[in-house]
Amino acid sequence: MKDTPTQLQDIFGSNVFSEAVMRSRLPKNVYQTLKKAIEGEESLSPTIADVIANAMKDWAIEKGATHFCHWFQPMTGLTAEKHDSFISPTPEGKTIMEFSGKELIKGEPDASSFPSGGLRATFEARGYTAWDCTSPVFVKSIGKNTALYIPCAFCSYTGEALDKKTPLLRSMEALNRQAMRVLKALGNTTSKRVLATLGSEQEYFLIDRKFHEKRLDLLLAGRTLFGAPSPRGQELEDHYFGTLDERVASFMNELNLELWKLGVPAKTQHNEVAPAQYEIAPVFGTVNVATDHNQLVMESLRRVAARHGFMCLLHEKPFSGVNGSGKHNNWSMVTDDGINLLDPGHTPHENMMFLVFLCSIVRAVDKYAKLLRASVATAGNEHRLGANEAPPAIVSVFLGDQLTDIFEQLATGEAKSSKSGGQLKLGVSTLPPLPKDSTDRNRTSPFAFTGNKFEFRMVGSTQSTSGPMFVMNTIAADVLAEVADTLEKAKDINAETQKLLTGFAKEHRRVVFNGDNYTAAWAEEAAKRGLPNIASTVESLKTITEPLHGDVFERHCVLSKGELHARAEILLEAYARQILIEAKTTSTMARRDILPACITFSARLAQAVGSVTSAGGDAAGQKVLLTRVCRQINTLQTSVDALDKAIENVVHGDAGAHAAACREKLIPAMAAVREAADQLEKLVDADLWPLPTYPQMLFMR
Ligand code: ADP
Ligand code: MG
Repeated sequence: MKDTPTQLQDIFGSNVFSEAVMRSRLPKNVYQTLKKAIEGEESLSPTIADVIANAMKDWAIEKGATHFCHWFQPMTGLTAEKHDSFISPTPEGKTIMEFSGKELIKGEPDASSFPSGGLRATFEARGYTAWDCTSPVFVKSIGKNTALYIPCAFCSYTGEALDKKTPLLRSMEALNRQAMRVLKALGNTTSKRVLATLGSEQEYFLIDRKFHEKRLDLLLAGRTLFGAPSPRGQELEDHYFGTLDERVASFMNELNLELWKLGVPAKTQHNEVAPAQYEIAPVFGTVNVATDHNQLVMESLRRVAARHGFMCLLHEKPFSGVNGSGKHNNWSMVTDDGINLLDPGHTPHENMMFLVFLCSIVRAVDKYAKLLRASVATAGNEHRLGANEAPPAIVSVFLGDQLTDIFEQLATGEAKSSKSGGQLKLGVSTLPPLPKDSTDRNRTSPFAFTGNKFEFRMVGSTQSTSGPMFVMNTIAADVLAEVADTLEKAKDINAETQKLLTGFAKEHRRVVFNGDNYTAAWAEEAAKRGLPNIASTVESLKTITEPLHGDVFERHCVLSKGELHARAEILLEAYARQILIEAKTTSTMARRDILPACITFSARLAQAVGSVTSAGGDAAGQKVLLTRVCRQINTLQTSVDALDKAIENVVHGDAGAHAAACREKLIPAMAAVREAADQLEKLVDADLWPLPTYPQMLFMR
């Protein structure tokens, strides 16, 4: 490849109906109307929609598409798509290719087979998908099938959100409304809109596909339910940022090409901490587009991995004993004229704006800590949070030394700047510019300020980024609304701002923590400070419907109380289902894979004892081993029986009770089975052992 740079430039976004494509393919007035619609200033008339649809169809057909599909994000956390061809038969027995504005704007998938948390009964099937024109349509091929993908929101016949996208879009509007009020109150006259930005770093594992095929647990549960620890794990610290393996590098190369074509700005790639673990991060973008992109990243990871003979594991904890995977969500707010509201800036005026937004976020995180915690509560993430490799379940904020210092000064009212020694009066020139990257990094914090953005590190690797991000946008909007209410009435804006910030700093200094979040000492300290520490996913999910949370979503029109209840229900059900699948898979593997192998081995040992003894040899060693193996087989047998009983008896009742029962009864029962089986793995002949082992999966590529 001689001139790679130009080629890459040609490739990037080549399958996206981008702004440039729109401009060249749409009549000028249509293009302008669409742009206004994207900015939320106008809606599209049926005639205009027809023109847009037609241009999209022509473009897609040139790219080889035969179908179009509404691409949406139901509450499964995955994406869904239903394909329709462009074909429309003519009376002469021929066909023409058609795609109308109506088909572009609205779809009608059956809503009853997606999780709805009781919002939709099976007999009330109707649901709608609606084109989200703020996220560009694109052409994607899977195998030989090429289709035009239309990013959509998904709601019920009665208008309730049934997806991950609708609340995200609503939360963006809420944040825009409130942040604009604050900006105006602070004297900004240039900005017209505020957008939330997201850059999500995605961690994943790659293992050889041949191992995956022999493991029902990976196939059905996405993680290993059995496996003795590898004699070598991550202790050599040689994988992180290590040289890329050739096969992995080829995989990454193809992955990047696919993503770039789809306009996903894949940027960073490297080996992660655990063996066989990797990371990919894009350049950040507007939060809804970045969320769509992250879905494409997860899906492409799986698909491209298969092509390279790999299995991509996105689960939060595929292997016990080595690090799990997260998804760091880097979040900030930016104005349409390019001001990053979390950028400390260089002038006192910018500092004031910055401090208002920074302190508001700290307040939001402290006030709604339980909601943020719940936004990352899943069955998979339960293995991670608080497991000394990921942040604990305690939500705290890392500000770094310099900002903490300023925060503390604010809390004591009369803030003195440490650098100049002068009075820190906001908007007055004695306030020094805040240098960027002034402080060290803290890898253990769940919510860290990293120079000009916050990094929310509790998010699980399989999760849609939508949930944590619509919570973030909503709670930020809520505090900004409070700030705007005060500042809009203020006579002396500087004095009022100073007072407000002092109040925030005093009230919320408890949530600021710059130390090591992994220690027991922090858990103790956090308890003293009164910070919630909810380790259980089920307990955390139950807090979703607390009045404080219902009110904040309702106040900002992000979710009605009914929609919120439905969501809590869906998440609890998903937890219970996941644990039940794991429990049943554990039982099946123990009975059908592991026990038979162990029984064969014990028979072989018994034979050895017999034949060695009759030949006059000393079979003492064989006997010891036989006794050990038989004892362990017994333990395994008993524990599987107990697990099956627990599965049978698990209480159903409401979603909360069911999920709690799964957690309390099934998880310990599964752990007992695993313990017995893992002990046997250490005793049984390697040739007889039916499952690929940890060392094989983690190190053989
Ligand atoms: P690290 O691993 O050190 O945290 P990375 O470079 O891997 O850093 O990831 C940082 C992520 O943060 C990238 O996706 C980057 O685009 C994103 N990012 C940078 N600035 C912003 C911002 N203003 N808003 C949101 N995300 C941002
Ligand atoms: Mg990071």
